[in-house]
Amino acid sequence: MIVKKEYALASITPSTKDVTVFSFKSVDGAGVDFAPGMFAMLFYKNKDTGEEIGRAFSIANAPPSDSFEFMVAMIHGRLTSKLEEAKVGDVYCISAPYGALKLDASTASKLLFLAGGTGVAPFFSMIRYLRANNDRIDVNMIYSIRYPYEIIERQELESFGTDGCGITITVTRPQPGDGWSGQTGHIDAEMIMKYVPDFAERVPYVCGPPKFVQAMKEALISIGVQERAIRAEMWGE
Ligand SMILES: Cc1cc2nc3c(=O)[nH]c(=O)nc-3n(C[C@H](O)[C@H](O)[C@H](O)COP(=O)(O)OP(=O)(O)OC[C@H]3O[C@@H](n4cnc5c(N)ncnc54)[C@H](O)[C@@H]3O)c2cc1C
Repeated sequence: MIVKKEYALASITPSTKDVTVFSFKSVDGAGVDFAPGMFAMLFYKNKDTGEEIGRAFSIANAPPSDSFEFMVAMIHGRLTSKLEEAKVGDVYCISAPYGALKLDASTASKLLFLAGGTGVAPFFSMIRYLRANNDRIDVNMIYSIRYPYEIIERQELESFGTDGCGITITVTRPQPGDGWSGQTGHIDAEMIMKYVPDFAERVPYVCGPPKFVQAMKEALISIGVQERAIRAEMWGE
């Protein structure tokens, strides 16, 4: 049975041209426990027709919390177009937590994250959690975006890099004059070996669109990673 609870929209923060960060706070103030990396179901109810739209979103904040933060690609779909009109204070129903993409900090001391687009959201939760708990952060992440302006929460992401976390950003559609002087191209086996030479010692997590996840699995398998070791979540296109 799905247990839904009411959450009030606490903040709406555009992070990039296409991604907005929404934070929802529990109306009754009770906390929700979830493992970093899991997702929640957000429900919008049309007051006139009673019709409800539910969509999954990775939880980007760290547990435990009485709030959920979602990094939403505003694709003008059925739910995201409702979020375009959302106001602070609006009440939505959320049920959580779900999902198998969970940080298991007790067993994994070295982690490899491969993120595509908003697929970086669960990794924010994991890194924020590790930081908040002063755990030794041995994370190495490669984050793939199409254009430099698509980097979500850029300032915080860069701060992860100065805090013992390896962060490589690769831009797949570099343009003349875009100001990007970093890595370009799609993540492949060669790029993983270059930036994460100890990849074989790390627990691999992959999150992004289905084609991205498939390509990452193939790249990892081609360099000897066992398919069953790869933890993955996917959405979008
Ligand atoms: C486990 C899980 C976690 C998710 N986490 C996130 C998250 O953290 N952030 C986030 O933005 N979305 C996330 N999603 C996707 C989200 O659930 C919705 O599918 C998305 O917001 C679109 O919903 P919509 O009602 O606006 O679009 P719909 O009206 O359902 O239309 C979606 C259509 O747009 C296409 N499409 C194009 N780009 C995308 C895209 N980037 N995402 C989804 N569909 C796309 C789809 O293929 C489909 O045809 C997650 C999905 C799953 C299953």
